[in-house]
Amino acid sequence: MKITVHGGAGVVGGNKVHVDLGDRGAFLDFGEPFDVNNRYCSEFVNPRVGRGLKDYLRLGMLPPLDCYRPDLYPLDLPAAMAPVRVDALFLSHAHQDHFGHAGFLREDIPIIASPMTYAILRASSELGRSEMSTDIFDHAVREPKKGEPRVLVASKGKDKGVRGRRWVLTGKVVEDEPGWKKGDMCDVAEGSGELNGIEYKAFPVDHSIYGATAYALRRGEGDWIVYSGDLRMHGAHGEDTARFADEAKELSPKALIIEGTRIGRPAPEREITEDIVHQNCLTAVEEGRGLTIADFSAKNYERLDTFIDIAKRTGKRMVVTYKDVALLQSIAKVDGNVRKDSLWVYQSLSDKEWDQVEKLREDGWQVTDPDDVAMQPEEHMLCLSFWDMTKLLDLDWNGGTYVYSNSMAYDLRQTDNLQKLMNWIELMKFDCRGLSKTNGTLDFEEGFHSSGHLAVEDLWKVVNKISPEVAVPVHCALPEKFAELCPVRTVLPEKGKVIDLG
Ligand SMILES: [Zn+2]
Ligand SMILES: [Zn+2]
Repeated sequence: MKITVHGGAGVVGGNKVHVDLGDRGAFLDFGEPFDVNNRYCSEFVNPRVGRGLKDYLRLGMLPPLDCYRPDLYPLDLPAAMAPVRVDALFLSHAHQDHFGHAGFLREDIPIIASPMTYAILRASSELGRSEMSTDIFDHAVREPKKGEPRVLVASKGKDKGVRGRRWVLTGKVVEDEPGWKKGDMCDVAEGSGELNGIEYKAFPVDHSIYGATAYALRRGEGDWIVYSGDLRMHGAHGEDTARFADEAKELSPKALIIEGTRIGRPAPEREITEDIVHQNCLTAVEEGRGLTIADFSAKNYERLDTFIDIAKRTGKRMVVTYKDVALLQSIAKVDGNVRKDSLWVYQSLSDKEWDQVEKLREDGWQVTDPDDVAMQPEEHMLCLSFWDMTKLLDLDWNGGTYVYSNSMAYDLRQTDNLQKLMNWIELMKFDCRGLSKTNGTLDFEEGFHSSGHLAVEDLWKVVNKISPEVAVPVHCALPEKFAELCPVRTVLPEKGKVIDLG
């Protein structure tokens, strides 16, 4: 058994972990490395789509392996790509740092994911711009540009080649919405137990996005290898994580590849659970006057459900954007929780969005106009974040409470965006909870956000329970510190270096 961490070694995020099981191989996640992205890229400086794999390889964002879509090789790509066997991609959850580069992989490599992860990604793919890095459903085959084979262009016209992928879900298949475009060529089926000669088990775990899944895999009667993905104990589904640890222990795994996100990060005085966040946000909304803005991560549905409850308790209309609706309809097919009656859709005054909202109105969604909000601000709770701030310019209204229930800034770009968010908050004369700015420095108020990751204490509980022969920390900025504290033998991963466990 060999493990090679191509992404996620000594950094948080961008997991790309290859496991070699002898005559079979698989990837555990194939995410986008935010660290490399932050080092070289900016809003208008990004790898060029027309150069296929070239820019990504040169920047070290993709490992030089022969596992990519054949149509993404421009003529001038160096030929030396190391052979690697990939029989499946096990996707842990729908965060970009875990799935973001899966679109580069050869389309015949099946992707295993939970129905919820599929539902979230499928709805997002219909909303987002199509780029090869995230083309994980149908994609147009690229071909060399006429007269310049170093440039790749999407095939056009009636000969347009469109390819899909094979998805194997760990539960019931999720039907596409009528009118969705990117799933026709995909083969989606429920599966369990075995795929392409790899035996596997899937375990639902608690994380800041629904559908997160840990996996165990092995070949034949070989040893099990367990991969945690991202997980925590203190969310609404904490018991899933505990069950995962119990069941993984039964497999007596040789290796446990586990996240160590919070190693070295300052620990709060007491663990902030989703319950505490719920209570603090409820109090902030109750005490607030005028309009309420609730700011949380768009894919954090647990937090969304928290705010739906807060809106109900405080007698406010909870208003979301039309983009949220597509995702909510998709996840409702998996969790059966139709949130339609509890929500209103914000009538955007930008051209294309207006049409989208009108379509939702025809489908029976309740729509709120900016004028309705301005007339009765205290009756409304708008779910918006920094990216939606221009919508507030439509409101002939100033003041209210802005509840920042989102994560801290971990890099310069996030810090810069939050500084700008504070300027908007000032402009709109909101009182802000959860975040403040003093002399230009951001300060995060404890208790308005709960981490998506295991508290260090819980991390060792999980490791101790599973008690693998070795632990391999990924998604961790300080693996040496992890090794120092870890109750079992730790092997430190180095990017692209094989860990041979015999
Ligand atoms: Zn992550
Ligand atoms: Zn995550």
